[in-house]
Amino acid sequence: MFERGFKTWCENYSKQKRTILGFGSHAPLDARALAEHLGIRVWTPHDVPKLSSESLAILLRNDGKTPSCWSAVTLVVGSKVVVILNSSHSRARQASDLTHELAHRIRGHEAQEVHVTDDGLMLLTNYDKQQEEEADWLSGCLLLPREALINIKRRRLSEPDAATEYGVSVKMLNYRLAMTGVNRQFV
Ligand SMILES: [Zn+2]
Repeated sequence: MFERGFKTWCENYSKQKRTILGFGSHAPLDARALAEHLGIRVWTPHDVPKLSSESLAILLRNDGKTPSCWSAVTLVVGSKVVVILNSSHSRARQASDLTHELAHRIRGHEAQEVHVTDDGLMLLTNYDKQQEEEADWLSGCLLLPREALINIKRRRLSEPDAATEYGVSVKMLNYRLAMTGVNRQFV
């Protein structure tokens, strides 16, 4: 489903960025620090200056049917790239939504839909399925690289404790443990 070498690339990227940012190879990653390093700002809807009702409508329509459903959207203001996060969601969800949006930028994905509002804000929405899958995988890998998963297992951390430490959901932790095969290494 992914191009050859993609998963290895993700692990290496995650490790490289941890090193640059001064985190250990299996330490939790501060997604906001990564965003800052990438020159990407992180906002909540409240931070958006003079958000028109049109922009807000697009924003809210984007990822779901009700306002509480949307998770994150990337906005381009002039030369600045901003990720707007739904701040009403849990910390864990915001972290994975942020790394997902960052992953689209890191991989150079082109949005299929770009809305330019009257006030000059550009909202990037709708990536193709392959790009969504890539962003999901890279996002998981940034938050929980293999080395972190192995470390969690070695320390025999409980799932809730590990999830709290890494700022992720238990669901994502279990997904990563299963998909990377780390679970099978520690039976
Ligand atoms: Zn996406």
